[in-house]
Amino acid sequence: MQTAPALSMPIPGHIDPVPVPRALVPRSDGRIDLLGLSKADLRMALETSQLDPKQAKLRAKQLWHWIYNRGVTDFALMTDISKAMQPWLEQRFTISRPQVVEAQVSTDGTRKWLLRTDDGNDYEMVFIPDADRGTLCVSSQVGCTLNCRFCHTGTMRLVRNLTPGEIVGQVMLARDALGEWPSQPEGRMLTNIVMMGMGEPLYNFDNVRDGLKIVMDGDGIGLSRRRITLSTSGVVPLMARAGEEISVNLAVSLHAVTNEIRDEIVPINRKYKLEQVLQACADYPGANNARRITFEYVMLKDKNDSDADARELVRLLKKYDLPAKVNLIPFNPWPGAPYECSTPERIKSFSNIVFDAGISAPVRTPRGRDIDAACGQLKTASEKRSRAELDRLAEEKQAALG
Ligand code: SAH
Ligand code: SF4
Repeated sequence: MQTAPALSMPIPGHIDPVPVPRALVPRSDGRIDLLGLSKADLRMALETSQLDPKQAKLRAKQLWHWIYNRGVTDFALMTDISKAMQPWLEQRFTISRPQVVEAQVSTDGTRKWLLRTDDGNDYEMVFIPDADRGTLCVSSQVGCTLNCRFCHTGTMRLVRNLTPGEIVGQVMLARDALGEWPSQPEGRMLTNIVMMGMGEPLYNFDNVRDGLKIVMDGDGIGLSRRRITLSTSGVVPLMARAGEEISVNLAVSLHAVTNEIRDEIVPINRKYKLEQVLQACADYPGANNARRITFEYVMLKDKNDSDADARELVRLLKKYDLPAKVNLIPFNPWPGAPYECSTPERIKSFSNIVFDAGISAPVRTPRGRDIDAACGQLKTASEKRSRAELDRLAEEKQAALG
């Protein structure tokens, strides 16, 4: 058996994410989960189980189609795989889905799912239906190591990176719920994905990249990279890599126009300054007028919402010559939040100033507030575990695997 590489990368936050075992490490029942393996790893999993390379190649292709194009989780339903082979696969492999703890529907049609990982960590995903599209808001981590002051997820203590399987699993589960198998090029309900659920996707770079590559693969789900948006709070060193290796649309959580205010509300700014973030945006591969960068700006009363702030925002976007659109997000409250939302008049005035400068600046309608599904409201009961406890759990797991 392979030894599992650590999943996480060092994070300049207050807690390191918990490493979890990766691909080809069997689950507690001894079977290997095929969901989330790359095409190459899927083939390798079959070869490791003694299929000859030619067979493995053929079977991997068939399995990929059944898993990601047809949404099938039961080997017995794979009709082009022989009846003799099906139990062989069943004994060695599984095709998982995240466990659903709770599913809620908002009065506005927004849906939220509380999901649980195999090791008992809770995270959430949200589906937002609109007249002409349906957007799935996907989580990249359980919790977030960063602690933006206006964000409920930032107050969560337990942080672990989600695996590629858990990231793709969210998309699979949503399509199960929407009845969207097999994958069709037209007429989909789930048309867009935003990496705007829990977590900072660029602090889980490899898994987010590997998960999204599966989502974009044309032999499977086949969702275009133009319909996927990755949102970052400004992890400058990884922004170029995101453009090169994932090449999805970029959204940046700007939220302030001075380092002083941004240091306070988006603390990662103490490490990567506003100017560095804007320069990384200017350098983002593939950004142009047809593919603009979205700047998210949460409207906080008397904090970042003045006319002068709006004018400074315009100045900065022009100075860096950014193909930009600005998303104004009314602050979504949560219990104990230290801010209030700006008044509708203030938001309108801010929006007008940006708009008059020729930059689109729509005000986002909050969705699913009644079920705490709106931006920044996601938080689960996963609690902090001590480093000693984590080490003990890792040892137990290792021992169980022999
Ligand atoms: N961690 C990533 C993506 C997840 S958050 C990021 O920060 O970009 C998605 C968006 O919701 C971000 O722009 C985030 O700043 C914003 N947000 C967080 N809390 C919010 C709140 N309470 N009200 C409105 N927007 C919020
Ligand atoms: Fe993390 Fe994004 Fe929330 Fe900031 S806004 S704490 S980066 S999830």
